[in-house]
Amino acid sequence: MRVPMIIGNWKMNTTVSEATELVNEMRQELDQTGSVDKVICPPFISLTTVRELIKGSSIKLGAQNLYFTEKGAYTGEISPLMLADLCQFVIIGHSERRQYFNETGEVTNKKMRAALKVKLNPILCVGEKLEENEEGRTEEIVTEQLRTSLAGLDYLTGLIIAYEPIWAIGTGKAATAEQADETIGLIRHNIFELYNERAARDVRILYGGSVTAANTTEFMRQPEIDGALVGGASLRASQFLSIVKQTAETRRVR
Ligand code: PEP
Repeated sequence: MRVPMIIGNWKMNTTVSEATELVNEMRQELDQTGSVDKVICPPFISLTTVRELIKGSSIKLGAQNLYFTEKGAYTGEISPLMLADLCQFVIIGHSERRQYFNETGEVTNKKMRAALKVKLNPILCVGEKLEENEEGRTEEIVTEQLRTSLAGLDYLTGLIIAYEPIWAIGTGKAATAEQADETIGLIRHNIFELYNERAARDVRILYGGSVTAANTTEFMRQPEIDGALVGGASLRASQFLSIVKQTAETRRVR
């Protein structure tokens, strides 16, 4: 049974007081919207505050990144143990990490292992660049990223994957719903090959890349798409609420 999921990735936006304001603006309505898992991923420094604000609600909390070592002399890094104390989810392998911080597939794999060790649910991101898409290499790239990130790992219940074509992130140029559905179907097939039929049936695979209140329903109508990872539009309470509500209406539990 796959419950749809909407994740808000606030990226490097919001001060602690802005994060407080944003949560207060949407908390009640978000909490009351059922049949969708709602996760918000504020910057590290707001995790404690947001955790207090959503306490007792159905809203869940995630981090945007982690380091793969438990503790030690790694100035400025945040460890899996620190996060496990605060939240349930963590985004791993976001294309902005791969692109600006040179995170390789090997690093992503280490982060997956580190998250699992402390029982944090990883939200694994995969996606191709524009030129790779234009060269017809989407399948090859996504398969390679997926297999490297999951190398040596048993299937884990609760795994979430986000297909995020890089050319669609923050550009306002979303993939078409059919394109996203096709690639997500391919990811599901990879999970079948790597693990088994049950894993392929259970894994939630989301689409991410310029999702807004205007295109949500189109994506959620697709059979393979289990929700969305939302960047820009998650910073506006009314947009994010609308995305969550449309998802609840369109995409009943599968
Ligand atoms: C993201 O942050 O993963 C994302 C998809 O961003 P946006 O919705 O702004 O394209």
